[in-house]
Amino acid sequence: MAYLTSAPRGTKDILPEETPKWQYLEKTLLETAELFGFREMRIPTFEHTELFSRSVGDTTDVVQKEMYTFTDKGDRSVTLRPEGTAGVARAALEHGLLGDALPLKISYDITCFRYEKPGSGRYREFHQFGVELYGSPSPAADSEVLALAYECFQVLGIQNVALEINSLGCPECRKRYTQALLDYFNQYRGSLCSTCLERLDRNPLRVLDCKSPEDKRIAAGAPSILEYLCDGCKAHFQEVQDRLTAAEIPFRVEPTIVRGLDYYTRTVFEMVHTAPDGERLVCGGGGRYGGLIEELGGNPTEGIGFAMGLERVLSIMTAEGCDFPPEQTCDVYIASMGAAAGVKAFQLANLLRSEGFFAQSDLMGRSVKAQMKYANKIGAKYVIVLGDTELEKGEAQLKSMRNGGTSPIKLDASFSDTVYETIMENAYADLEEAAAELGLPPQDHRH
Ligand code: AMP
Repeated sequence: MAYLTSAPRGTKDILPEETPKWQYLEKTLLETAELFGFREMRIPTFEHTELFSRSVGDTTDVVQKEMYTFTDKGDRSVTLRPEGTAGVARAALEHGLLGDALPLKISYDITCFRYEKPGSGRYREFHQFGVELYGSPSPAADSEVLALAYECFQVLGIQNVALEINSLGCPECRKRYTQALLDYFNQYRGSLCSTCLERLDRNPLRVLDCKSPEDKRIAAGAPSILEYLCDGCKAHFQEVQDRLTAAEIPFRVEPTIVRGLDYYTRTVFEMVHTAPDGERLVCGGGGRYGGLIEELGGNPTEGIGFAMGLERVLSIMTAEGCDFPPEQTCDVYIASMGAAAGVKAFQLANLLRSEGFFAQSDLMGRSVKAQMKYANKIGAKYVIVLGDTELEKGEAQLKSMRNGGTSPIKLDASFSDTVYETIMENAYADLEEAAAELGLPPQDHRH
């Protein structure tokens, strides 16, 4: 029965110590996207299997090997979403959002599921934050999405991330390039891995993605897509770069980026983190797609978007020592002795909570000593002890756990105001102390 107490392979629990980091990360990303006009959409965890096989592309690893697909009790084939783009496109079509004012800008923050070999940052359930911009074929849209990708890393304080961009051209450029790739790789049929031999027949671009060192070496000498772009695609790619340069957004042109999914045309990009030891980690990527909406039955509509893996972003932030907001702890713990005091403690804690304080009282029937130990453990900033004497007097002591200082507090309608004033007084005193330590002149903060 050991499996009852261990999570399925490739999944991960996020424990209460870690959730503040996740909440901060997700909130920051969604708010940053909002500044660019992207509004959040929430989509189902599973969709009809065909949605992914048609949109992600059935020659991709994601569709061929990694999907969590099952037949439900109604005999329908459904799949846990391996990515967000297909679901968002389906929802935009279903709800007629593409007929409204364009461009349509959508953000999402979701879990994704891929049956991959877990390890080195790969999970079977993981989190993606992403955006999609629909309705603009202009390079202005590409630069807007790239600017947002860059800004996301800036606001999180991540230093060593670079945008690497490439153009995959239009289907015409792709056709000519695919032929050129076939001609090139055909010379190396004897050396390529067996997966790449299959890829060569289905989609030669995918060979450029292979991780095997020998295939990588061969791929390094392959022709570059940039030599096969038509004039329109060349001009588009140039304008994307000109706009990024104008906005002082650093980027690198990297002709080997082909991205794992079939639906991309023209601009594709990756967000690559380089650690001090030189190790590169792709933590996000995206690109422009032309055929997706049409493939799903809509009018031809251009889209461009990106997704980033939040597990990777978090581990990069941790490695770089990025700042996270301090964790909120209990403001006031109200300890009590005896049944009547217990009820009063509950009543006052509830009052404080309705005023927005973090407040707790005893739920275990423990001794005052044990309650104080607990208050210490949860990092309570202030404690109040209630017993019969305090109830009779209608007054208790509000004690600072930091410096041990106490102030009287009436257990009446003025209670939460006194808590507020005491916390503020102490905060000012701390501020003044810190200012004095820094040699700053004293100031009157009490306006
Ligand atoms: P993709 O949709 O494959 O372009 O992936 C976008 C980003 O999601 C990647 O750059 C990773 O950061 C992240 N990602 C993809 N697959 C996984 C996985 N199995 N586990 C964790 N993160 C993943």
